Amino acid sequence: MDSSQPALHDINTPPAICLESPIELAHGVGPRRAWQLRDLGVGTCADLLEYFPRDYVEFHGQRTIAQIQPLKNATVEGDILQTRSFPRRPRRFEALLDDNSGRCILVWFNRWNMEEKIQPGTRLRATGKIQLYKGRYQMVQPQYQLIGPAAPPGPAAALEPVYPANKELSSVVLARIIHANMNELLSQVTEWFSPAQLHQRALLTRQDAFSAIHRPLSLNQAYQARRSLAYHEFFIQQTAIAVRRYHHHTHQAAAALRVDKTVEARIRALLSFQLTGAQDRVVAEIQHDLAQTRPMNRLLQGDVGSGKTIIALFAMLFAVASGGQAAFMAPTEILAEQHFDTLQRYLSSSRVKMALLTGGQSPTERESTIRGIQDGSIGIAVATHALLSDAVQFKHLRVLVVDEQHKFGVRQRAIIRSKHPGVHTLVMTATPIPRTLAMTIFGDLDISVIDALPPGRQPIDTRLVPENEREKAYQFVAGQLKACRQAYIVLPAIDENARELANAVQCRDELAAGVLKDFRIGLVHGRMPREERQQVMEAFRRHQIDVLVATTVIEVGVDVPNACVMVIEHAQQFGLSQLHQLRGRVGRGTAASSCLLLAQASTDTAKARMAALCKYPGGFDIAEEDLKIRGMGEIVGTRQSGRTDLRFAELLFDAKLLAMARADALALVTADPHLILPEHAMIRQIITRDFGDAVALANVG
Ligand code: ADP
Ligand code: MG
Repeated sequence: MDSSQPALHDINTPPAICLESPIELAHGVGPRRAWQLRDLGVGTCADLLEYFPRDYVEFHGQRTIAQIQPLKNATVEGDILQTRSFPRRPRRFEALLDDNSGRCILVWFNRWNMEEKIQPGTRLRATGKIQLYKGRYQMVQPQYQLIGPAAPPGPAAALEPVYPANKELSSVVLARIIHANMNELLSQVTEWFSPAQLHQRALLTRQDAFSAIHRPLSLNQAYQARRSLAYHEFFIQQTAIAVRRYHHHTHQAAAALRVDKTVEARIRALLSFQLTGAQDRVVAEIQHDLAQTRPMNRLLQGDVGSGKTIIALFAMLFAVASGGQAAFMAPTEILAEQHFDTLQRYLSSSRVKMALLTGGQSPTERESTIRGIQDGSIGIAVATHALLSDAVQFKHLRVLVVDEQHKFGVRQRAIIRSKHPGVHTLVMTATPIPRTLAMTIFGDLDISVIDALPPGRQPIDTRLVPENEREKAYQFVAGQLKACRQAYIVLPAIDENARELANAVQCRDELAAGVLKDFRIGLVHGRMPREERQQVMEAFRRHQIDVLVATTVIEVGVDVPNACVMVIEHAQQFGLSQLHQLRGRVGRGTAASSCLLLAQASTDTAKARMAALCKYPGGFDIAEEDLKIRGMGEIVGTRQSGRTDLRFAELLFDAKLLAMARADALALVTADPHLILPEHAMIRQIITRDFGDAVALANVG
């Protein structure tokens, strides 16, 4: 093998970027690309590394070494003849591969344990760009896969990643950017676990996992990579939960609240309806919890429209009746506003003072709310994550309700509880989670379920309408409107404000000029000022508008029983549970209701999503079906926006992995509750970074 240094000066210069670098600094990213990447939630180089493919396509690039050409990508397979390590920085490892037609040098920089993984006699398959160096072929930093000696020399297929993309930034461009930065970023990835731990759980190192998730040689390898990253993520999260429970939960005291019959009767008098049996049961469970001197820690599950908001109202009013305050936290500004409006309607005849707190409010509004929260004059605060700000200090917060939608935010909960150690907490979710799994995930949360819908709900006839029957679908809508009913027309929200608005306006204008010209059409979208949006919604509620054209702002909170048709445009662009949430807006009155999905179901999974929605009325079946549909190809999933804690792991799918990570985390925390042993230093550092003071590690050790 050639003994001189390879002439790869770019690798010998110190890294220009690090994981924390803003995305602008990444190779191949200019101001415009940076802007586009930020739209996809990629703000730093670490985000780029963690922007993982949602799928892979196979490409058959395997060549014999005699056939390969310089500067082309290729996959070669053969036996390692020799290896050499160069410990001098940058650490370098070389292996000479022979496939009987020729030889190729494989070079890796700054990688762990290569000597152990690749030895003379090892058979492997390597993919990378072929370079000609001093008359020899070499591949630098190739993606590789070990092949057992017994494995038949079958045709190899390398895989090309497919990244979640949008119109501005294609998967191909994303792949190019990611790969241009990969090696530099990979060399900075730290390992969290010892080789022994990794071996015991059959996990890849973090470096290998990140490398393989972007450049796998087989689906199985991609699966191993994702599994490893999901485990790492679960483990950190579960360790944080375990530490927190160890330090806080067991010794925590809470104020017992007034939950007697008088108070309960006063709350019930605010409602224009009777609670369902399921709701009564949950109220009783909550009453029991709130009467204790330990904080309530309860998860409430219930399908869309099952009536969770009223339960939240009960819990919050018990706090107010006891002279305390309550807070309701929603994941987005629009949801917070809608919950605020809903709760205000319930409380219209009561003296309880409510306030809304969001990041988008004017400073004056915000300050006065914060003052009211601090002096205790505000009884109920409805808020976004703005609630977590240090500026917000409750005089006596007794009940906290967190509306968590689809994913859970352990970190947010932890922050709140550390600010208000004794607060009674109710977490609400519409995603049905199997009980055992929920208990694992939510650790010490008690669980309540609303398993019945309020009486009088109409079944919703859900249909997929092919594009060429679009006209017919709108004729049907017009027929319903003539019969004095109302309709929703839903469009996907688009990242880019201007276009979202343009699409919505165009849709409205087309309908107003055509098939719906005799009807009053209103428009709401996410970028509208709150007052304007409220006015339109109110007009729809009062039937001064017949048709509401909307982006997903109507996903929750809208309640108009006379609306009995929903058309969802471009339905293939919505997730299954989101579609289910949306259609829950109809079927609330006495009329038979329908949901028409206008979709170009181009992919199989889109077709399957539509089919599931048409077939199943209930959220639980939908959730299970969602899981089945997504299967192996998509288990890596699309990354959610920054507010979720889990990037790689999928709650329902990874139940076993989670149980494993949880058991390991418990064992760790039992043995070393403060994570002060040297071998836990890295874990501790990561947890402090991701969970901060919330786990009370900062002031220990
Ligand atoms: P969720 O938040 O669980 O999706 P909501 O709390 O928004 O559901 O309730 C959906 C609708 O059902 C609301 O209009 C609410 O007023 C109504 N509702 C809730 N409980 C009952 C009940 N027991 N009887 C009649 N209507 C109810
Ligand atoms: Mg709700």
